[in-house]
Amino acid sequence: MQIAIPGGALVLLVGPSGSGKSTFAAAHFARTAVVSSDACRGLVSDDETNMDATPAAFRVLHAIVRERLRFGKLTVVDATNVRADKRGRLVRLARDLGRPAVAIVFDLPDSVYIERNRTRPERVIPESAVLAQIADMRRTLATIPEEGFANVIKVET
Ligand code: GDP
Ligand code: MG
Repeated sequence: MQIAIPGGALVLLVGPSGSGKSTFAAAHFARTAVVSSDACRGLVSDDETNMDATPAAFRVLHAIVRERLRFGKLTVVDATNVRADKRGRLVRLARDLGRPAVAIVFDLPDSVYIERNRTRPERVIPESAVLAQIADMRRTLATIPEEGFANVIKVET
């Protein structure tokens, strides 16, 4: 798959746990371009799965995103990004720095998200959490065209 992303852009990967965001990021982007919420949880708490570390992890994530965008560097946010309010903060950050924002949306059947979570080798996220993310994802598909992204790219595999 070839995707054209403007230089210096902010890219949000958007999809529930199990949608393949981290796999996609590793395949398509330089390691240093990818800012991952799991990795930031690890940086602040030594545990990528520690949900109590989420607020601190996102403060770190936003700081890294801001500094990279200031340097004019392509920056990819590997987090679920299924909540419009959370996406809005990142889109505004990019806009304030004069950078385009692009969304890559992992629009897969619900059964695929659920199955990939069940079978993933590392951690398993509680199914109730995945179902909540899937509900947010359905709202996302309705609103994301109007959220200020220069481009919304759908991945459907
Ligand atoms: P994330 O939670 O969105 O970051 O998803 P991951 O990239 O961690 O992938 C979740 C699980 O699905 C892992 O076990 C991956 O190996 C698997 N996976 C990711 N992308 C694909 C894909 O394109 N096809 C298939 N069959 N499995 C995938
Ligand atoms: Mg991931």
